[in-house]
Amino acid sequence: MTASATLGRENWRGREFRMTINGELVAAASGEWDDSIDPFTGTPWAKIPVANDSDVDRAVGAAHSAFTGGAWAGMPGKTRAKLMRNLAERIDAHAQELSYIESIDNGKLLREMSGQMAGLPEWYYFFAGMADKLNGETIGDDRAYLKYTQRQPVGVVASITPWNSPLLLLAFKLAPALAAGCTVVAKPAEQASASTLAFAALFEEAGFPPGVFNVIAGPGAVGARLVADRRVSKVAFTGSTATGIRVAHGAADHLASVSLELGGKSPHIVFADAVRADRAAVVNGVLAGIFAATGQTCVAGARLFVEESVHDELVDALAARATTIRLGDPLVSDTEMGPIAFEAHMEKVLGYIDAGVDAGAEVAAGGKRPDSPELANGYFVEPTVLSRVNNTMAVAREEIFGPVLSVIPFTDESTMLAEANDSEYGLAAGVWTNDIRRAHRVAAKLDVGTVWVNSYRALAYDTPFAGRKMSGLGVENGLDTMREYTQLKSVWVELTGKTRDPFSLG
Ligand code: ADP
Repeated sequence: MTASATLGRENWRGREFRMTINGELVAAASGEWDDSIDPFTGTPWAKIPVANDSDVDRAVGAAHSAFTGGAWAGMPGKTRAKLMRNLAERIDAHAQELSYIESIDNGKLLREMSGQMAGLPEWYYFFAGMADKLNGETIGDDRAYLKYTQRQPVGVVASITPWNSPLLLLAFKLAPALAAGCTVVAKPAEQASASTLAFAALFEEAGFPPGVFNVIAGPGAVGARLVADRRVSKVAFTGSTATGIRVAHGAADHLASVSLELGGKSPHIVFADAVRADRAAVVNGVLAGIFAATGQTCVAGARLFVEESVHDELVDALAARATTIRLGDPLVSDTEMGPIAFEAHMEKVLGYIDAGVDAGAEVAAGGKRPDSPELANGYFVEPTVLSRVNNTMAVAREEIFGPVLSVIPFTDESTMLAEANDSEYGLAAGVWTNDIRRAHRVAAKLDVGTVWVNSYRALAYDTPFAGRKMSGLGVENGLDTMREYTQLKSVWVELTGKTRDPFSLG
């Protein structure tokens, strides 16, 4: 039997994925299970526990005891690093099975999930290297005091993640949190919890003390309960802007810190010279920006600004390629685009397309569910190119999170930049040009956290990823993210031994 046949849908049917609390695999206290739906077949494929308040309480309690008891934060950094490297090795050993689970659960291509899983250990290796480098500093040349800082872990971290890249988005939070000495309770999205539940088993294999990493499952209310727990010191969230704001309010009630990685409506900007130099590369980059992962990525290059002189030529080329994108089973290797992750979301995406057409956009490609009978059970939407969009339409302002590209022509760089920045979001942008001055000038002026020049949708553990405006708060990835999981303590040591006036400061 081939590996894919072993790990394909038949292998998992009806499988119960359990939560991990204090190192133990557990069902929900209520005994309640939810079906997880395979978006390609439109049928249940696995069972997921539905946590209640007592499960949340136990998970946070386990993380809190593991933190305050010193089992993790008190361990020497180099030992924490070693366990994190063990974890990375375990991920590598289980990468294939975890990729299948994610692909069946959220409908994203097995190719993409396998690529993510192959890269996942890098997050744990990189941040393992930080575990023994949490240095403070000695301050000033004060003769009366020796003053120094210590960088200490913030405590219990709640990680709340969406369904589109469950284990990758968890790694953005978990790897630096573990390196800092924090303990973690993760709550994956109800639509795709299975991989995070399965992943938790690797901690025991890697030799982690119980309670360092706990996973609970269930709907948004479980996340809200987790955020509200006063023993949680920090919430690291990825998801929609609306939910992120709710999370920030919940955390503010007990002054837990938050980092939020939220929505986007990223401008993807194409200057004529890039199309003249290498049209195929531009088409490829633009398609990757919007149709990869069926458009279900926060960084999707959803607003395409095209210089007017190449507008029609580029739209025709994009439309021609979009109509040949192979839709199908995400587990099959030559499929290029899978289904939308769940039915209600598919309806939302179709609603946006209709709204765009009603507002005057032209459908250059796609625009509906595909006709093919083999795709009828899955939640498919054709790769859609809407042309002659203007920046005031809903399809240019709101995050669709699906395979819908809104094309906006431009003639003047500064007017285009004003429009590109006229968005409530500020996550990412792409710029295609071979003019080196223009590339840097435009990159500097875009009010976003990441700019790709002549590329799109690249991410790495060592490069900061941060959203501006309504796209987020705080930094993920790169060395700066360690500040999100640590807090400074200042220590003052009196050196003179002189008696001080008790009624004056210092
Ligand atoms: P999506 O990413 O599908 O747009 P959300 O942003 O609502 O959806 O969901 C992202 C994550 O946030 C999921 O794990 C979800 O269960 C969780 N969540 C939803 N509502 C809340 C809430 N009020 N408090 C905390 N977590 C929530």
